[in-house]
Amino acid sequence: MGKKPKQLHVVFFPCMAHGHMIPILDIARLFIVRGVKTTIITTPVNLPIFTNALEHTKKAEEASMINFEIFKFPPNLLPDGCENLNQAVKLSTMRNFLMAVMMLNEQLEKFLEKTRPNCLVADMFLPWTTECAGKIKVPRLVFHGTSYFALCAEEIVRLYKPYKIVSTDEETIIIPSLAHEIKMSRLQISEYIMEEDTHFLNAVKAMKESELNSYGVIVNSFYDLEHDYADFFSKELGRRAWHIGPVSLYNTSIEDKAQRGGLQALKDEHECLTWLNSKQEKSVIYICFGSVAKLTASQLLEIAAGLEALEQDFIWVVKNEEDEKSQEWLPPGFEQIMEGKGLIVRGWAPQLLILEHKAIGAFVTHCGWNSILESISAGVPMVTWPGGAEQFYNEQLVTVVLKVGVPIGAKKWSYVPNADDFVKRDALIKALREVMEGNEAQERRNRAKMLKKMALKAVEKDGSSYSSLSALINELRNY
Ligand code: UDP
Repeated sequence: MGKKPKQLHVVFFPCMAHGHMIPILDIARLFIVRGVKTTIITTPVNLPIFTNALEHTKKAEEASMINFEIFKFPPNLLPDGCENLNQAVKLSTMRNFLMAVMMLNEQLEKFLEKTRPNCLVADMFLPWTTECAGKIKVPRLVFHGTSYFALCAEEIVRLYKPYKIVSTDEETIIIPSLAHEIKMSRLQISEYIMEEDTHFLNAVKAMKESELNSYGVIVNSFYDLEHDYADFFSKELGRRAWHIGPVSLYNTSIEDKAQRGGLQALKDEHECLTWLNSKQEKSVIYICFGSVAKLTASQLLEIAAGLEALEQDFIWVVKNEEDEKSQEWLPPGFEQIMEGKGLIVRGWAPQLLILEHKAIGAFVTHCGWNSILESISAGVPMVTWPGGAEQFYNEQLVTVVLKVGVPIGAKKWSYVPNADDFVKRDALIKALREVMEGNEAQERRNRAKMLKKMALKAVEKDGSSYSSLSALINELRNY
């Protein structure tokens, strides 16, 4: 009889933001399926995002095997109850948020000392965790929650500063060393990279250094999607990385898909799906800007005008809480006029279920990596409308490298995504017609379908992502 493999314990410490916690929960569950004990570290306000997501799962036994470790969030630096990066970005208190998070180091050290896990998977926003884990010789893996492409392009921009060659905002910058010709403007590059000596540039440096000193990087992507950049990341940038995605494909039941993110999607699920069931195949446009972006009321009014002028049906997700009450972000009577043609979801939408519905023809996305990968996994072409973070790089991946998206023409990066840019209705109408109609649209759709097949294959037994996770687990066993 063979020897029973050693039971591993992996601890996950995601940054408190939906775009990071959602994939980490999927990843923890993937480890559980492989027989690994898992613990997720979070704070009291963020705990329900995980527990609500698990409440109605069909895979209850697996879910019950996730342990949670609750750290007290340091008081005084942020308003009461503000324990999530999304709230901090909106309040422009990201600096305080990162400082508060750093103060969790003592709790982390105590916890690691007590439990002595085999590995710590900690978020890119928590660079200090490499040192905490190193003190007791626990390997730390970094989780960025973005594409290989964005990781490579941003690192090249940080190292070679191509934005210094141009003298105006309009001039084109070609990002050097990459396998594709990637053209951007200075305005599309994040300020935290360009404004030297700022707090954020130092924070980025700390993140990069901790990445180089850590055991490696876990990437929510799959090899065939961006092999040039997976190779570049390891061979040219010297990182060890394991690609184990798309992790959203772990969610196979309606309940898991609907509850992902833990924000009451279940009650909206039926409305969305019933509405979509009444629509023709590939006829509906889905519009959602993720969990952080906050569009101005004038931008929302402009979108509404564009949607009214279009022939296509749409589902539009809006999260502008205070504007919702006054409804000033909608033209008078908009919802009545649009009845049957458009559905507005206020708050959290069951995105996986919507994207996978056969009636969806295109996705207008802010280019958050989870959203892009979910669209790819569902075979849905995109209209790209980036606003902040690493989203302008993701746009290049979708439109130039993979050729499954049409850019809307967003011009300006900002700390609060989409806050400083304005896209006119004509640009929205043009991009949507381009993604929905004609031969090129059909070719784009075919490519998206092919990527979906590749994504499903990657996570199947012995697919590239499946094998990469097996390799990582074996390596940790032998560490
Ligand atoms: N999401 C969702 N419903 C919403 C908004 C977002 O389910 O109404 C999910 C989406 O499926 C994705 C995540 O939230 O998994 C957003 O992550 P992404 O990286 O796309 O953007 P971020 O919110 O980090 O900007």
